[in-house]
Amino acid sequence: MKENRETAERRLPRVLVAGVPLVAGLVVPLSKEERLHVRSRRLKDGDTVVVLNGKGVRARGAIAEKGSAVLLLPLEESPSPGSPGSPVGEPHVRVTVALACAEPARVEWAIEKGTECGAAGFVLLAAERSQKSHVVALKARLPRLRRIAEEATKQCDRSVVPGIEGPESTGDFLRRVRGAESASFLVADPGGVLLGVAGMPRSPLLLAQTRFAQTVRSGVGGTSAPRPPDVLLAIGPEGGFSPREISLFEENGALLVSLGPRILRLETAVVAALTLLVDPA
Ligand code: SAM
Repeated sequence: MKENRETAERRLPRVLVAGVPLVAGLVVPLSKEERLHVRSRRLKDGDTVVVLNGKGVRARGAIAEKGSAVLLLPLEESPSPGSPGSPVGEPHVRVTVALACAEPARVEWAIEKGTECGAAGFVLLAAERSQKSHVVALKARLPRLRRIAEEATKQCDRSVVPGIEGPESTGDFLRRVRGAESASFLVADPGGVLLGVAGMPRSPLLLAQTRFAQTVRSGVGGTSAPRPPDVLLAIGPEGGFSPREISLFEENGALLVSLGPRILRLETAVVAALTLLVDPA
């Protein structure tokens, strides 16, 4: 059976050339990590790849210079299996996860799976109950965490690599985002209101969706791409957020949301919440 172009394109290896304008004819040297990736995939000069700049732009390319560079081919319109107007693989709702510092292996898992589930970005929170040693270790591991997000972006066929910031204290985070033009601010808390369409008929999520629909409508015919709405989602450390942090969140307009009657590990909570918030039906 003949494969359609979208399926064929999905099978092509992804190569990331962060921050480079994707202009046909350019030969772009690959980073050390991408050269290793090309070698591990046994790609040869001339093999076709999908090139991502990590900011939503993608092009076709061909491996060149003995696997150490990529030649950019004329840009083709690629079909968008996601929302019309969004870059390929990017969700309807931009959810930034404020993730409390915890055991580094759990945070790595949360970033990998959270990227696959469509997180727009991550902010690491040095929460009151985060262990100091975890905060220090995660700060030192930021390059590795960013690399995990890049690999997951390529693997799951997204176009934008989620940024990873922090660690910063809950107070500093709130000062920074206060007044930001974010649509909704949710804090995952087992005692909160059940997150889900049935449980939240007037939820901030629905408000976010409505705003998104308005943005898309007003963006039709415009020159710039419509900007999806923002949801901030905070996930606590192993011991949960402290009562003081919960009060601070509430003072800043956050809604406490429950993910159901079981207590989830923080990395499971990231996946469960994103599944409900990103790409709602
Ligand atoms: N004993 C802590 C508590 O009661 O909050 C459990 C912490 S849990 C291991 C880590 C984080 O995952 C929590 O702070 C919360 O943000 C999120 N979480 C876990 N289970 C949840 C649930 N059922 N509903 C909402 N959030 C949950």
